[in-house]
Amino acid sequence: MEEGERREGVIAEVAPLIPTSRTYTFTVPEGIEQSLTVGQRVRVPLGRRGRLVEGFVVCLDRKVWDSTLRPIDSVIDAASFLTLDLLELGREIAVHYACPLGRTLKAITPEAVRRERGLKTVRYARLIQTPDEIRDSGKRIGKKRQAVIDVLANAVETFPVERLFEQTKASSVVLRAMVREGWVEIVARKQIVDAKLPGQPLVEPGFALNEEQRNALERINAEIDSNRFSVTLLFGVSGSGKTEVYIRAIRRVVSAGRQAILLVPEIVLTTQLVGRLASRFSDVAVSHSGLTDAQRSLLWHQVAAGDKKVIIGTRSAVFAPCPALGLICVDEEQETSYKNLQAPRFNVRDVAIMRGKQHGIPVVLGSATPSVETWYNSEHRSHYRRIVIHRRVKDLPMPDVYIVDMRDEFIEQKRVVVLSRLMERLLAETLHRGEQALLLMNRRGFANRIYCPACRTRIICPNCNVNLVVHTAGGQSICHYCRSRIETPTVCPNVTCGEKLIQTGLGTQRVEDVLTKLFPRVRIERVDSDTMRHREQYQRIVDDFEARKIDVLVGTQMIAKGLDFPFVSFVGVIHADTCALASDFRAQERLFQLVTQVAGRAGRADTSGKVVVQTTTPALPVLKHALGHDYESFATEELRSRQRVGLPPFRRLARIVLAHPREETVRREAEALYGRVREAIDSLSLAHTDVLGPTPCVLSRLRGKYRYDLLLRTLNASALRGLLCNLEESGTLRTKTESIIVDVDPVTLT
Ligand SMILES: [Zn+2]
Ligand SMILES: [Zn+2]
Repeated sequence: MEEGERREGVIAEVAPLIPTSRTYTFTVPEGIEQSLTVGQRVRVPLGRRGRLVEGFVVCLDRKVWDSTLRPIDSVIDAASFLTLDLLELGREIAVHYACPLGRTLKAITPEAVRRERGLKTVRYARLIQTPDEIRDSGKRIGKKRQAVIDVLANAVETFPVERLFEQTKASSVVLRAMVREGWVEIVARKQIVDAKLPGQPLVEPGFALNEEQRNALERINAEIDSNRFSVTLLFGVSGSGKTEVYIRAIRRVVSAGRQAILLVPEIVLTTQLVGRLASRFSDVAVSHSGLTDAQRSLLWHQVAAGDKKVIIGTRSAVFAPCPALGLICVDEEQETSYKNLQAPRFNVRDVAIMRGKQHGIPVVLGSATPSVETWYNSEHRSHYRRIVIHRRVKDLPMPDVYIVDMRDEFIEQKRVVVLSRLMERLLAETLHRGEQALLLMNRRGFANRIYCPACRTRIICPNCNVNLVVHTAGGQSICHYCRSRIETPTVCPNVTCGEKLIQTGLGTQRVEDVLTKLFPRVRIERVDSDTMRHREQYQRIVDDFEARKIDVLVGTQMIAKGLDFPFVSFVGVIHADTCALASDFRAQERLFQLVTQVAGRAGRADTSGKVVVQTTTPALPVLKHALGHDYESFATEELRSRQRVGLPPFRRLARIVLAHPREETVRREAEALYGRVREAIDSLSLAHTDVLGPTPCVLSRLRGKYRYDLLLRTLNASALRGLLCNLEESGTLRTKTESIIVDVDPVTLT
């Protein structure tokens, strides 16, 4: 082509899978002009050398173009696995979370579907001339050819080639010859094979909603009927029957011929919970980590075809390709497992809201302990509603809660104890009555600190700046971040010292150990990610506990979530201190949520419950509120303090983390980046915007890399988007460190 020559044709805008926020345009070769659709994956040449890169077609347009444009190299997918809705959602996620569009779109379409896993090419044959025409052709028709003609003539449209061979005993040679004669045509179709989806028996527990539940349902139904976007916070204490409200709201949507998505957090029990929920619907698609690729593909296609009306699942279910979406429910909206830990670092709850807005449909967020952001929004934003369910189903009373100051316990008993005297007495009484107990210890292992009493040397992970945790099994100590293990040292590694090392700090193993000694005849099981390597193991313990073959369950927050045991009348929280949970601005919130959740497990049936919380910080207001089951006071107080220091929801945050094997490099780069960001903020004269840092992260070294972070703070989301976009386009975020992560709306600052 001559320089400057102009032509008219189809131009494709492509979002490539490279770290860039921009898209590129290419011409569409004539051969694929007819078939290429938006959302399809293609290979395109990039850079001066024309390196081939995978990307998504995000726009097609007929335009006049000049010779500088290069053509698309080839097409990867036979079809698009992105609906236009999802493409639009992808654009919004990419902008909000400062993630390249190509990478975002890749995260939206499930790998199994994109790679056509579980799909097989099946060949079909059909007649393209009538039997009469074939006979009139005067060509020789042998017995086998005649058999093929007979079968195909009776087939509805097409007939699978494999079955044709079986039925007619004709060979592929015979069939090929018939194709050459122009009598038969072979069409290949990709089909899902061998993907049996587990069936769900329909179960209908026949209980009526109480008045509060009925009111809640009526208000949500009104939102559904109004056919417009809204966000409803369904705030109800644990055991208040929120699930039943979702189920009935979803049924209303389905009966109007539309689809609904119900999102549940990723916890060990997800499969069981989801199974239980799924049994309440027909035409339900259940998506969780236990599915095979073929099952995943099959589900996706069924949802896209509108055959599945209800989609229940974890994170990725928010991207279900529903053609007729009418409602999205997010259960336990505050759960941190809704945050995606890789780019795009989206929060599923927030994506659900984006999607609801896009489709103009209601979104329901349910929780007993909402995130304070959601609580604030439900009070201050016009498209939010708030519905409160105060009472537990069957009017169960809230449990009695006692707080024990472990510092007093230390003074009075003159030693560090695992169980306070009150905890021990109430536990003994519970077991004596033949009832069950849950004990929460939110840390795994036996001890989490090994140190030398003489020279104060601390044993830390060789790759990370964190304490190694002693696990008695195998005499090993493990880093809970990089999983490296070493033989637990017994003497100080400091060559001039050599003193005997001391192990302190509680973990679940230690609690189990103490309990076994105190109550030798009691059946105790420990539930944490050390003992629960497999779902089946966990399921067995849950079943045994339900069947009352176990008296006491000791565990991490795994035992606080999603379980409902009727014979638990005692719950103990061994160590309720914020420092044991998180080391950032959400620590108070986490502590409140955890204590409330686990306390809610006590006395759910006809036995009224007792809860003991052990702490060294009994004066913390958050504990007082958790124990009084007083979410509103907690939220009011927490919001007041967040407003004072300028944290979400009053400001929006983006955290930038730099990591590099050399500390000097990462510190220098972080400081330089800070300077550039400051300049950008000044030159844009953005109000209420600042950058904090740079400081070493709480986890200052992780997997062999030193880490520093900066915190961007703006007044609202759109200001944050604007700033990040500017930093990205001006190349401000380019550093010499091995990695740089931008985390918008971070859930943790470690
Ligand atoms: Zn020492
Ligand atoms: Zn480590």
